[in-house]
Amino acid sequence: MNEMSRISTQPAYSDAAQAVLARAPLLFIDGEWVESSHGKTIPVYDPSTGREIARIVDASDADVDRAVAAARRAFDDGRWSGIPAYKRERILHRLADLLEAAAPELAELESIDNGKPKAASERLDLPSSVRMLRYMAGWATKLTGEHVEPSNAPAGAFHAYVRREPVGVCAQIVPWNFPLMMAVQKIAPALAAGCTVILKPAEQTPLTALRLADLVAEAGVPAGVFNLVTGMGETAGDRLVRSPDVDKVAFTGSTEVGKIINRTATDTLKRVTLELGGKSPVIVLPDVDIGKTAQGAAMSIFANSGQVCIAGSRLFAHKDIFDSLLEAVAASAQQWKVGPSLAPDTMMGPLVSTEQHERVLSYIEAGKKEGASVLCGGDAPGGEGYFVNPTVLVDVKPEMKVVREEIFGPVLAAQRYEDLDEVAKAANDTNYGLAASVWTRDVSAMHKLAAKLRAGMVWGNCPMATDPNLPFGGYKQSGFGRESGRHGIETYTELKTVNIAL
Ligand code: NAD
Repeated sequence: MNEMSRISTQPAYSDAAQAVLARAPLLFIDGEWVESSHGKTIPVYDPSTGREIARIVDASDADVDRAVAAARRAFDDGRWSGIPAYKRERILHRLADLLEAAAPELAELESIDNGKPKAASERLDLPSSVRMLRYMAGWATKLTGEHVEPSNAPAGAFHAYVRREPVGVCAQIVPWNFPLMMAVQKIAPALAAGCTVILKPAEQTPLTALRLADLVAEAGVPAGVFNLVTGMGETAGDRLVRSPDVDKVAFTGSTEVGKIINRTATDTLKRVTLELGGKSPVIVLPDVDIGKTAQGAAMSIFANSGQVCIAGSRLFAHKDIFDSLLEAVAASAQQWKVGPSLAPDTMMGPLVSTEQHERVLSYIEAGKKEGASVLCGGDAPGGEGYFVNPTVLVDVKPEMKVVREEIFGPVLAAQRYEDLDEVAKAANDTNYGLAASVWTRDVSAMHKLAAKLRAGMVWGNCPMATDPNLPFGGYKQSGFGRESGRHGIETYTELKTVNIAL
């Protein structure tokens, strides 16, 4: 069989999707779709075919400034932060209803734009976005300050309390791997807390954010409270981070860009939260069910074609089960059918872009050159799009690039270990600290490892178990601040101490 024929053809787009692709490139500012000041555009591609499918605005400095000014006005006049919290809650629930009703269309659009299987968009991206919106809607009416007794005054001499107020105008910059989920993870807590927002989606995957803007307006969010700016990171993104009228920057993306943003934001001392890269360990003890664990390990690295910040990209298997586990992981990898995003049997779509495709293949080559052996995959299956086969590398050494650097593709590097202290040390031997998973029936070993791992999230006997009520974020160079849960929404607030002499 010829290599090219292994990848099926991308099925036709629905009429609803085609209508979005045919839209004129516009920005959503102050409650309206508006033209850019300079008319420049950026092409958008379907990664399953490599073909251009739409164009979006490449926002100018003037466009960004206009969006920031709208968000500033909307915050300062209290049209959102000043209304009763239950009204904000209701509007966010209405937005969740609209998202739910539009789920089939949005799931298709997400898959066309990002390359992820439509079934995955339907099962994960859309329901997770709806759940996050509903969860954060509830916080609108539950955020509170506190009453505090001053320590250095006679009892009853002062009335002191701490108010929790919205932080203000938020620039929210998101990546291309879960475009809608990341956008919602940003806007939901900000809007619930009473902030106003300028959202900048990744230039590779803006389509669902355009539809999100329609739905935000339809839900009844007042003009200027939510603004959408499409454009390049180094221009539009950078302009947002520099703007003196922005109070907070919330960023998800690469560690490299996170550092640039943090440096730039320092000039105006903006509040910054960063969700960055990872190189998360999957640690398997010798007492596990090999079949189930292998499936979990495969899911950790092959879901979303490995383009997941919390992907389990370093597997540490105990020496007694290394061979049998790796054999089972490789068998599981064969079941991840690679194909175009809209084909019903696809389990793993293409990578998001030609750049990402080249990058991942060059990491595999670097691994081979440094002495790693390819247990399965290690190549591209052909086809028009940016496909890479699920890949497992063995015979890897801790100093190899494939072990040290975030590949952001379906590439697993597997190592063996002998005891718990050794594996904890090896797992922590990284600049990243986003997540980890531990697989064992030994409760004591599980808790000991959970405490030793320098990571923001540790999962036991399951891959990537995130939840709107559980803090999400990293140690070390995986970022700072947390999203989700009470801690997540609190990053959209400032504390104000009021102390009144009675
Ligand atoms: P990226 O950092 O290149 O881009 C992310 C966003 O930042 C895009 O919207 C881009 O336009 C913008 N941007 C780029 N340069 C900018 C600049 N100088 N100023 C302002 N904005 C700028 O990342 P990516 O390649 O799109 O995404 C992949 C990375 O994101 C991976 O490293 C991954 O680990 C990380 N990620 C982290 C999380 C998390 O929650 N920790 C989640 C998803 C992805």
